[in-house]
Amino acid sequence: MPISTGKFDTLGSSYEAESTAGLLAAIARSAEKLASGRGWPDGVNDLLAALGRATGVSRVWIFQTVALTPTHITQNYTFEWAAGPKYKQIGMPMFSMFTNPIDRPEYRDLIESRQRGEWQKTITSRIKPGWLRDNQEVQKIKSMLTIPVMVEDQWWGTLGFDDCEREYDWSDEEIALLRTAGYLISNAVLSDRLSAKRKQFDILKQITDSSAWAYDFKTGQVWCSPELIHSLPMPTDNFRLPLREALGWVHPEDRHPSLEAVRAYLRKGGGVFRRDMRLFTDCGDIRWVEFIGNVRKGNSGELRQFAGIAVDIGARKREEERLRKEAVTDPLTGVMNRRMFLRTLQEHIDRSLDEGDGFGLLLIDIDWFKGVNDRHGHVAGDYVLRHFVQVCSAALDHQGIVARLGGDEFAVLLPDVGPDEARAVGEKLRRNVVSSPCLFEDKRILLTASVGVTVHDGGVTSPARIVESADLALYSAKKSGRNCLVAAHDVACKVPDGDAAHD
Ligand code: GH3
Ligand code: MG
Repeated sequence: MPISTGKFDTLGSSYEAESTAGLLAAIARSAEKLASGRGWPDGVNDLLAALGRATGVSRVWIFQTVALTPTHITQNYTFEWAAGPKYKQIGMPMFSMFTNPIDRPEYRDLIESRQRGEWQKTITSRIKPGWLRDNQEVQKIKSMLTIPVMVEDQWWGTLGFDDCEREYDWSDEEIALLRTAGYLISNAVLSDRLSAKRKQFDILKQITDSSAWAYDFKTGQVWCSPELIHSLPMPTDNFRLPLREALGWVHPEDRHPSLEAVRAYLRKGGGVFRRDMRLFTDCGDIRWVEFIGNVRKGNSGELRQFAGIAVDIGARKREEERLRKEAVTDPLTGVMNRRMFLRTLQEHIDRSLDEGDGFGLLLIDIDWFKGVNDRHGHVAGDYVLRHFVQVCSAALDHQGIVARLGGDEFAVLLPDVGPDEARAVGEKLRRNVVSSPCLFEDKRILLTASVGVTVHDGGVTSPARIVESADLALYSAKKSGRNCLVAAHDVACKVPDGDAAHD
């Protein structure tokens, strides 16, 4: 048999102290660095040198299997130790990222054997003439041993020992020990891969302020990286907790809807899951997080893992909140804007239809406000508008909803009030405006306002019609000399005098 090959578990077990003691020492010396994950690439080079010296071969090398298809194999000569310059091969173009066709049966057998994790040894002079022998002879190899490097059960590459001086027949014990060296290399590859992944994740974490999470369907446990909830006493990356406990960190309002969203996603059977949720931090603060993940299934379609990342979206939520507020708030005075007020009015109309509760509406317009601008300037005018809102809010004492409809016109919605109460609140507002002059710089600006009041006591109507009703009353108040209150009911009883100009 020109090439001997075999599985490691069938190797002989007698321990020959003499031939293997040096090898054992060499492996032991390199083991610590490689096993601790600090071995890539220096530790691997050290190991090859130690093995080369201990075995007396001409060259120790590692080929990495870069790509493997049914027809071709691409390999790269990644590590080498050579006993002397004449044995050096690393860096030669023919060994850098080289692709070979897998067309010859003996080559295919060799690759398949390595994929199965088997070792091979050969003495060149005993190989039958042909491609393989030529290949060895070109490299002046007299004997060779190869050990596959397996990473996560996959053939990652090959650890090789070329002897260009001796026809060396490797013993079972030596092969067994060199397999251990192969494991050390596997470990270094794995550690390197993990640290590369960790680095990528760290970058991702920094850029997106994210963390990782996973739910295992078999154990019912949740794993998450410690950053997700700062306070959890998670000393290691392997911290796990039952789903019920993990849900305790989710805001109660988000728990049920989020679980429902997960169920709907699982029913849909694939794609990417995305959901915003609020989590509690150690201080009891709320943190907005977007969970992005997908589900992994086993070969028979069973649910295995639901995993992904969680991205801190606090900034996005704050921005959304700011925009939402901006869309519904008057920027000058901070009270509701017209659009939001009409929406709120509609909600109260709907509610009064369902529950029969009435409400009152006041429309208030500052008297002669143009004059304030003209006399004191626009900045003073703005200041007066803010002052006016403060006076109204203080008088209402949270009993009503204030909005700025535009210019110097304001509205107050008074839930659950009848005509008398609405009128009384309107009167109080008007009086407070009179008795609260605005102090701007060294000026004292006296103000009055006219008020139109209407009440809605159920029935079908629209916000526009209710506002129109209060507006007519306000118009009447202006016509009556200003600084007074008129109720819509009183207006309805009067015949309009035909003057349509508001001001
Ligand atoms: P009336 O008693 O009839 O209400 O008289 P008025 O002068 O108050 O007249 P009107 O209510 O029609 O005038 C509103 C004025 O408010 C017109 C405009 O110059 C001014 N105004 C509108 N928006 C602003 C604002 O944001 N800031 C300031 N300073 N003035 C504004
Ligand atoms: Mg006005």
